[in-house]
Order: sequence, then structure tokens, then C-alpha cells
Amino acid sequence: MDKEKIEIIGDNHIGFSVDTPMIPGAFDKTDDQKIAAIQHHFGKIMEELGLDLTDDSLSGTPYRFAKMYVKELFYGLNPANKPKLSVFENKYGYSKLLVEQNITIDSSCEHHFLPITGHAHIGYVPKDKVIGLSKINRLVDYYAHRPQVQERLSMQLLKDLQSILDTEDVIVMIAAKHLCVSSRGIKDKDSFTTTLEYGGCFKEDRKREEFLGILQHVAL
Ligand SMILES: [Zn+2]
Repeated sequence: MDKEKIEIIGDNHIGFSVDTPMIPGAFDKTDDQKIAAIQHHFGKIMEELGLDLTDDSLSGTPYRFAKMYVKELFYGLNPANKPKLSVFENKYGYSKLLVEQNITIDSSCEHHFLPITGHAHIGYVPKDKVIGLSKINRLVDYYAHRPQVQERLSMQLLKDLQSILDTEDVIVMIAAKHLCVSSRGIKDKDSFTTTLEYGGCFKEDRKREEFLGILQHVAL
């Protein structure tokens, strides 16, 4: 791909697929093997930048960086780390809107590997199944901890919740700041990005307004 196209895709945050693009055998290596390999490569990047890796302060950075990538920032790439999402029978027959809001988003943009921070707000109307509330937060945390595009993150959450809850009646809103917009490129410190994905009853204006009305009472 030529350099101009690379810049255009990055600055416009263009994503191409709902599924995170992965290579076959992406998890053939253990976490420890990945950490060792990334440690090696990141050390080389630091050397290219002219940094002295024999300095006490810098010598441990390649390892810290590699461990942070595999175990923390991008733990959500590995399906083995997906939280168990047990659902329960909707015994009390709750059939109105339920909203879990202000769920912390700690993610990274896949075009620049810089932080995306903000909040997700998720609503659903239960049919036969309900989910433990904290499980929604855990699912957001899982999908956020991958190199992401905000639109894709919203769609992955919507699709997964629709399938877990066995209903189309789910809505996902994310409002987030992108460090790659605030600290490089256009360097806009104040703008943030909002995405809204929904299905089922939320295609009706009235139902969407009910959800958005609840959110107006909280800080984004
Ligand atoms: Zn970016």
C-alpha cells in the first residue's frame, strides 16, 4: 500500500470488517513466547530511535512494553480470555428498557496504537434471557482491549449481546476521545466521537429517544 493511502486510512479511521482481522494460527504461540518476541522487536525499535538500552531506566522497557501489550492492552484479542457470560431465565418477566451506562472504555486505535478513552452506554429489552449487569461491563472491557476502530467496537458489542441475549432489541452507544486526534494530526483536544448501533425495537424513533433521554441525565 502506498504511503499516501496509509495516511488517509489512518486519519479517517477507516475500518474494513466487523471481525478483528486476524491471521490463521494467531494464538499458536503462548503468551510468554509472544512477550519474548515482542520484547526483542521493541528493543530494536528503541535502538533505531537512538536510545541507549544499557541505561538502567530504559533497559527494562522492552519487556514492560511487551508484557503490557500481551497481558493488558490487547488481552481481548485472544478468545480464550473472553469472559464467561452466563445468562439467566427472565423469571420476573421484566420487559422494559434496561440501561447500563457510563461503562469505561479503555481501548486503542488500530491505526496509530494510541489510546481511545470514553464511555459505552448499552440498553436492551429482555425477552426470555437476562444477563448479570457486571457481565456487560466485562464484555465491553474484553472487546475494548484490542486494536480497535470505534465503529467496529460498537458493532462487535451489539452482535455479541444480541446473540447472548437472544434478542435483536439491543442498543450500543459509545462516546470516546481518540488520542490520535487530540495529540497528533489535527491536534483537536476537545472533540470526541459518538457511535450508535442498534437493532430490533430500537429502529423505532420512540424507543431510541427513550434510551437517549436516559443518557441526557449523565455526563458522557
Ligand atoms: Zn488513530
